[in-house]
Formats: sequence, C-alpha cells, structure tokens
Amino acid sequence: MSEPVKVAENEVACPVCGQKALVEDYVHNIPHYGDILISVLTCSKCGFKKRDVGTLSIGDPRKIIYKVEKPGDERALLIRAGGSKVLIPEFNIEIFPGPFSQGFITTIEGLIIDLIEKTSFLCETGEVNESECNRVLELLNKAKDGLVEYTIIIEDYPGKSDIISNKTRYVRIEEEEEGGSPGD
Ligand SMILES: [Zn+2]
Repeated sequence: MSEPVKVAENEVACPVCGQKALVEDYVHNIPHYGDILISVLTCSKCGFKKRDVGTLSIGDPRKIIYKVEKPGDERALLIRAGGSKVLIPEFNIEIFPGPFSQGFITTIEGLIIDLIEKTSFLCETGEVNESECNRVLELLNKAKDGLVEYTIIIEDYPGKSDIISNKTRYVRIEEEEEGGSPGD
C-alpha cells in the first residue's frame, strides 16, 4: 500500500479536556478499492488520541453483510468507521461503539484475533458468566483456525464503513429503525 497523504489539519476542542487539539486528515489509497480517509486527533495537553477511518463517499445508513465460508475469506479487509456496530450473530457477539469508539482497518482475521484477546481479558475479570465466556472463546478460536462458518455484520449508521470483497452484501437500514417518529 502507498503511504498516506496528509490533506488537512484543523484545531478542535479536545473531547476530554476541552483544550485545543489537533486533527490531521490523511488519504490512504487501497489498491483495487480506492481512497479512504484516516483522521487522527491528538491532544498535547492531556494526551488523548483518537483515530477514525472511513470511506470517502458518505453513504446511507446500511448493513454490511459478509459470510466467512471458506479458507481465504478471512483475508478480506474491513473498514470500521467509529460509531458503527459490529455483530457476529452465530457467536452471539455484538460490539457496540463507545463514546470514543475508534475507527480501524483490519482484516476479518485481525478482528477475530482482537476479539479473542478482548474476550480472554473479559473472562479473567470474572464479570461475565464463565461457561458463556468459554463457549464464545472456543467459537472464536475455531473461527481463527477456519473450522466454522460465520457472518460479520456491520451496522453502519455513518455510512462510511465497508468490507472489501465482491461477496459483501449491503442492506439499507430503514430510517424507522433509528427510532425516529413516523410522518414528517
Ligand atoms: Zn485533551
């Protein structure tokens, strides 16, 4: 991949301490796909850092659906913009965006490895049911080894996430689902 090119620099109020923080925007070209935008906010006062990524086209709220069915499928690139929710229904996993949720670019495999680390950590805290923990960890490890089929769904309200593959399906999220009242 080519080096990201810096395209803009702005000052904003830091969401943590309210002092002036710097936001730098970079455009990164992904072969056979196109340009994505990476924004990095850095606060030199309190050290807060936040990264977000997204495709340059702003789309409608949509569900991005990708099935991992055979070896190689886990190599697809996943762009998750901050604010979108990731689900793996077969494993009963839902990753909600937090208030400072970071955007990231990874592969499906990278996401699974990250989930294994986070789930192991969560299991060690003892805050979650142990048998459920072990069940999810077992499934994730099978997923890592390519032994199970599963579906990745990104609920992408910003319309800026994507999974780069010709087998990705997109379903528009209807506005009613966002909890708005019907009518005008
Ligand atoms: Zn700050």
